[in-house]
Amino acid sequence: MKTIYMDYSATTPMKPEVIEAVSDAFKHHYGNASSIHHIGQDAKVLLQQAREQVARLIGAEPREIFFTAGGTESDNWAIEIALETKPGKHIITTSVEHHAILHPLEALEKKGYRVTYLPVDEYGMVSPEQVAAAIEDDTILISVMYINNEIGSINPVEEIAEVAAQHGILFHTDGVQALGNIPIDMSANQISMMSMSAHKIYGPKGVGALYIRKGVRTVPLIYGGAQERKVRAGTENIPGIIGFAKAAELARENLTAHIERLSGLRDKLRDGIMNQIPQAKYNGHPTKRHPGNVHVCFKYIEGESLLLLLDMKGICASSGSACTSGSLDPSHVLMNIGLTHEIAHGSLRLTLGDFTTEDDVATVIEEIGPIVQRLREMSPLTE
Ligand SMILES: *Cc1c(COP(=O)(O)O)cnc(C)c1O
Repeated sequence: MKTIYMDYSATTPMKPEVIEAVSDAFKHHYGNASSIHHIGQDAKVLLQQAREQVARLIGAEPREIFFTAGGTESDNWAIEIALETKPGKHIITTSVEHHAILHPLEALEKKGYRVTYLPVDEYGMVSPEQVAAAIEDDTILISVMYINNEIGSINPVEEIAEVAAQHGILFHTDGVQALGNIPIDMSANQISMMSMSAHKIYGPKGVGALYIRKGVRTVPLIYGGAQERKVRAGTENIPGIIGFAKAAELARENLTAHIERLSGLRDKLRDGIMNQIPQAKYNGHPTKRHPGNVHVCFKYIEGESLLLLLDMKGICASSGSACTSGSLDPSHVLMNIGLTHEIAHGSLRLTLGDFTTEDDVATVIEEIGPIVQRLREMSPLTE
């Protein structure tokens, strides 16, 4: 049975060119970039080249790229930077952020900070006007995700960044799902900080970066050695960073074709599902959307059962929520776009990527109808 992987928003397989770059680094570039000798200096040169490549993907300057251990660390760090460099106790975010933003902010509330979780519209989006209205005298940070990882909607972050800049407030965006999936040009916007992760763009896991605009004061999240201009200690993960850079280079070269091809497949999959299965709700914005995201809720069924039956056909999908198995709480994103528990439980996220084929899409369209029907026949909820 062929595996059909449709969970690219959870993680992506590495591209062969990336694997080659990483294994070449493991084999030949084992130096510590802080060492004086030539093996160390070799690593240092590669580190600088990698920084340039990642910067190029987002129209940034190399010195604005700080490597981290991934999206989660970058999100936590951005919050820490605001806390430590700005006076004030108020933070604005949205109710549908990734847990790498929501959970640290919840922890801060216990320490006396006030957090405004902006409500979202039916697509999971917030507006610049909403953000402007939520600003208080002591707001130190506005953090709004670029693209939602569950339902794929794209927030107007450039406009929100302008609002923040007008008020002199730091603006951070979790750009993990946006990187390599939409054009981003830091030289043409006012975003202060953006989180990135390599494993969502066909790079290795455990490596990412925080973009920090020049002029933004920064402090470490992790203390120790003098790496990353003294703000992110720890011997650099050279093979990981090289893999990230290779993935970034490929993403930049292929961006237009990637978006075009993927959105075509996405719309085919959406139509194939929606035209065939009644009592289904398509979630997320119809056009302002991640090119590879299809998110549907099927009434009367349990998302987890659907995932199991799809997996038995070799199809890897997600319910879209990162909720721990065993928990009965449906996704916070689906609750916040106003879905009932009943419909939110039947959620399915199919995320496509560069290895997804027309055949894969056709197979999923063919398999999913009978599976949903079977589950509905067994469901006590079916009317
Ligand atoms: C995957 C993801 C993260 C976490 O990134 P890691 O590199 O896995 O830590 C953060 N935010 C969003 C939106 C994501 O999709």
